[in-house]
Amino acid sequence: MKLTFITIFPGLVEDFCKEALISRAIKNKKILVKTISPREFTTDVHQTVDDSPYGGGNCGMIMKAPPLISAIRKATGRKKSADTLIILLTPSKKIFNQKMAVKFANKYKHIIFVCGRYEGMDARVEKFVDLKLSIGEFVLMGGEVAALAILEATARLLPGVINHGESLIHEESYGQKFYLEYPKYTRPEVFEKMKVPKILLSGHHAKIEEWRKGKSATKK
Ligand code: SAH
Repeated sequence: MKLTFITIFPGLVEDFCKEALISRAIKNKKILVKTISPREFTTDVHQTVDDSPYGGGNCGMIMKAPPLISAIRKATGRKKSADTLIILLTPSKKIFNQKMAVKFANKYKHIIFVCGRYEGMDARVEKFVDLKLSIGEFVLMGGEVAALAILEATARLLPGVINHGESLIHEESYGQKFYLEYPKYTRPEVFEKMKVPKILLSGHHAKIEEWRKGKSATKK
């Protein structure tokens, strides 16, 4: 899967991709991450990507439409293919969830993230995107962290990115078997008088599964 970030801070995305599982997935060619800066498409010496809003008020600067739209066009190539998805990051629209991550991982070969900064974007950019997504009811400084969250949630579901097989889909939070994660333990068996529940040491798989189900159902 290819993931393109349209951002005026490409370094944020590039640095993030240098570590951990994402960097390994890139090395193993499971994913390809690209950045495009809207500044490439400006025509003035200052490479201006923002301007004050029509209608006034003190709501700060707005990202200009032309550089963003040119960046989207560069990302899609001449004709946008059906397996390309363009997502605009915004705090006020639909909230991203696991179900969407599964759909993205299964359905698309290229995801393009359009990351805002300042007080957001000229509304005309919305015409050029497929989806407007938020990662939660709070306001970030920019769309990059939100887009990277969606990248992580989606990329870890692609074959070969994490080698946990079936457990990944079924057993974790928001998977099919249990709604939320159950409590997990690893060595040591006792730590500062806190013990691992006996059932987990019993080797009785059916009972362990029953216990986990009970724990995950009551967690929320
Ligand atoms: N004034 C805007 C907020 C701008 S924040 C408003 O009131 O809605 C600047 C940029 O950060 C946004 O354009 C968006 O791309 C990104 N952003 C901020 N919070 C976000 C969130 N919760 N989810 C996704 N993107 C977010």
